[in-house]
Amino acid sequence: MKFNRLARRQRSIQTNPAARRGSSQNINSARLRLSDRPLEAVCRAILPVESPMGDVRANTEALKRYLTYQPSYIDMAVRSGAVAMNLASRALIGRSLYDATAEERERVIALFTKTTVGSNAMEGLKALVLLASGAEMATDEILETSRNATIERPDAKLDVTPSISWSSGRRFDAIVVGSGAGGAMAAMELAEAGLNVAIIEEGRRWTVEEFRTIHPLDRFAGLYRDGGSTAALGQPPVVLPIGRAVGGTTVVNSGTCYKTPKDVLLHWRDDAGLGLADPDDFISLLDRVWEIVKVGPVPLNVMGKNGKTAIKGAGKLNWSTGPLDRNAPGCGGTCQCAIGCPKNAKYGVHLNALPAACASGARIISEARVSKLLIEGGEVIGVEATRTDGSIFNVLAPRVVIAAGTTETPLLLRRSGLGSHPMVGKNMAIHPAIGVAGRFEEPVTAWHGVLQSAYVDQLHEEHGILMEATATPPGMGSMILPGFGRRLVAEIENADHLATLGGMVADLSVGRVMGRNRATLIYNLSKRDGKRLMEAVRGSAKVMFSAGATEVLTGIPGQPPVHNDQELDDVISRSDPRTLHIAAFHPVGTVAAGSDPERFPVEPSGALRGVRGAWVADGSLMPTCPGVNPQITIMALALAVAGNIIKEQK
Ligand SMILES: Cc1cc2nc3c(=O)[nH]c(=O)nc-3n(C[C@H](O)[C@H](O)[C@H](O)COP(=O)(O)OP(=O)(O)OC[C@H]3O[C@@H](n4cnc5c(N)ncnc54)[C@H](O)[C@@H]3O)c2cc1C
Repeated sequence: MKFNRLARRQRSIQTNPAARRGSSQNINSARLRLSDRPLEAVCRAILPVESPMGDVRANTEALKRYLTYQPSYIDMAVRSGAVAMNLASRALIGRSLYDATAEERERVIALFTKTTVGSNAMEGLKALVLLASGAEMATDEILETSRNATIERPDAKLDVTPSISWSSGRRFDAIVVGSGAGGAMAAMELAEAGLNVAIIEEGRRWTVEEFRTIHPLDRFAGLYRDGGSTAALGQPPVVLPIGRAVGGTTVVNSGTCYKTPKDVLLHWRDDAGLGLADPDDFISLLDRVWEIVKVGPVPLNVMGKNGKTAIKGAGKLNWSTGPLDRNAPGCGGTCQCAIGCPKNAKYGVHLNALPAACASGARIISEARVSKLLIEGGEVIGVEATRTDGSIFNVLAPRVVIAAGTTETPLLLRRSGLGSHPMVGKNMAIHPAIGVAGRFEEPVTAWHGVLQSAYVDQLHEEHGILMEATATPPGMGSMILPGFGRRLVAEIENADHLATLGGMVADLSVGRVMGRNRATLIYNLSKRDGKRLMEAVRGSAKVMFSAGATEVLTGIPGQPPVHNDQELDDVISRSDPRTLHIAAFHPVGTVAAGSDPERFPVEPSGALRGVRGAWVADGSLMPTCPGVNPQITIMALALAVAGNIIKEQK
């Protein structure tokens, strides 16, 4: 994407309402109100008005539109941050940011970002402005790619009833809360064993037609909890997006598949006493899942240059590398996994386990948030759920499988009076990730190809560091780009020359989930994991240099690009891991299973301790970080738990 294309897109958004395809109805008119002036000033500072990307009105409107999807506290935080910046500007240069020249704005930002709080606030604002403007500017390209891609398979046959049309009091043999990786597999297994199953899902059903036509920002904001703004608080704060849809996070995940490493399974069996993780039994479940979700290696002809660059760099270092395994048969490399696959190629559970469950009679109730489990005399008798209009209904069953995901399951237990075990909500590992970018003389155009495509696992066994070549949908990946104002614009202009590589670390379980209705996530990076993340930066940068990068953006805030190993070592040695930009996509462990009742809220079978008829079958079950992308492990664990429910029933 080049300046003139972006500028054209912005002009077209302003003058042609049709260009806002799929925009939500609650967008105000393009006229900015006075109260939007601080936001406008921030947009001017981040994407300067003097540059071709600096259409302040369009950028501010995009930001405002994205904010309509956010919980009110985020909207307030962004607006207050913008006001604070403007006040700082008056104090520092004697006039508002809005009236300042480009140089003055950059000076204000430089001063503002000297403190950790100011720097975090500015980075947060930058992330939102870039996501909103980037998605807006790349809309034409994304939608054109979607339209030109052939549909690999039609939408699956699902028996879905939106909660608004569902009446209260119906009875089932089992209820599954959540239709993601764990919930869908558990529901399939139970339904195929002859149980009458209801799956209750907070998100809605999305269709492939919507993934081909809806504005990328609306897809992004609609497919994730809280519009995609979930984060863990701590040092440093961690961006931690979570899916919410029929199919759960598998609808937006990157499709990368790993079987649980054997040493992890042995650790779970021997340390946690999690008998079902015994490799002798568990490996056959992993194999079964592998078949169900049709896993295969990324074909080189669709991989794209981003993955090939990583493979080339690692290969020259003699490091272990290759195409990733993915559940995306027929993937065309549209690089849109994170906002819903426009080909239905990525084979999330909405396309396999859920239709299999429905074929065996399961019913899905969508857009219904389970507020609590109903319990009588120490036994589960069903659930209470809330419809989108706020009305409440009951669904009755003698067993409930909780698969609301690692961040929501502890909240549901607390709301149900089942959260008193001291470890509920604790023990959260997130598999934290950093990203680096290598600049190449030739264009890489990382978003032309598979979003997550190649692995480098040289440092995995010894250090728990797994590198994966990961791009983002066009326009939506500018977070790695350093700076603000004119420098940032220059980086965006040349973003097609960057290859991006992410590094994840198998972390200690130091996070927790607080709250009953809204999750507050707390995660403070341990010293050991901070060091490992720095090693992930070093390893990823080495791969980029080895592939021929002329410079590497380390992603470490405030540090210049590096041009060789010496500069890389210098930057790493003077940087504090607690300033890193970290994202995480794999939270696990908050209601873990194991044999010791003091340590584990869930029995090794998957049954929740302290009540009869409640089971857990999602990421929260895992005793520790699995060290690899977790979806296959979660699916296999869910099959194991469902198998135990069936055995108990007999
Ligand atoms: C952007 C992204 C990329 C990823 N890429 C990969 C990858 O490539 N490979 C990989 O292995 N993993 C990946 N993951 C992680 C993986 O998708 C998740 O670990 C996995 O889907 C979690 O499964 P789960 O069953 O625990 O929860 P989820 O799949 O999140 O499902 C939970 C469901 O429960 C619903 N729910 C929550 N609360 C309630 C309630 N009270 N009532 C009703 N419903 C409720 C939610 O809406 C959600 O749909 C990625 C994650 C993200 C965010």
